[in-house]
Amino acid sequence: MPDYVIDPPAQPVVPIAGAAGFFPVRRIFCVGRNYAEHAREMGHDPDRELPFFFTKPADALVISGADTHYPPATADLHHEIELVVAIGREATGVSATAALDHVWGYAAGIDLTRRDLQAVAKKLGRPWDMAKAFDQSAPIGDLAPVSGIGYPTAGRITLTVNSELRQQGDLADMIWSVPEAIAYLSTLVTLMPGDLIFTGTPAGVAAVIRGDRLEGSIEGVGTIGTTLV
Ligand code: MN
Repeated sequence: MPDYVIDPPAQPVVPIAGAAGFFPVRRIFCVGRNYAEHAREMGHDPDRELPFFFTKPADALVISGADTHYPPATADLHHEIELVVAIGREATGVSATAALDHVWGYAAGIDLTRRDLQAVAKKLGRPWDMAKAFDQSAPIGDLAPVSGIGYPTAGRITLTVNSELRQQGDLADMIWSVPEAIAYLSTLVTLMPGDLIFTGTPAGVAAVIRGDRLEGSIEGVGTIGTTLV
């Protein structure tokens, strides 16, 4: 054990669905604009340009069932329900056909976004970090092992706020599939066990406020629930 001068940070983890144990998280990557209807609602042409990525710190995760603190410095906090891929095996420059061999499991997650800060960043050509990578910006549900559920190529993905349907789509509508996103990301960085990839959100993103209850669901994968406090 090294002689740390402060207590080492806690290891962020995701619980495993229906089993004991935890998945230790290393990094969080997120795909931007991966559903055509969402790209259009954000004012973009959903042509199949190469995917782009941003990141969140691993300790931005909020485990499903725990409350999420409404963040400071925003008046326009948006929900984005997303399929999350958990990497279980190192991947560098893998092909799309081999990419799924590197997946440990899947979960439902919410990419919380300070949309007002993102709009300013876009306008000024500045980084998105403070719009995307703030504390508690990544609520996540239990992780379902791929050994149990396989690769979810299709399935309904939804998010309700206070039981009212806000977002719905289908995993089959992703512009870049999970194996394609892994393959491309693995040409940019070496993916390591513990890495998560949020794979983009369907249309219907909108603002939430303190007290709202968010419930996300992905058919065949799992659920995520959190209350903004
Ligand atoms: Mn997103």
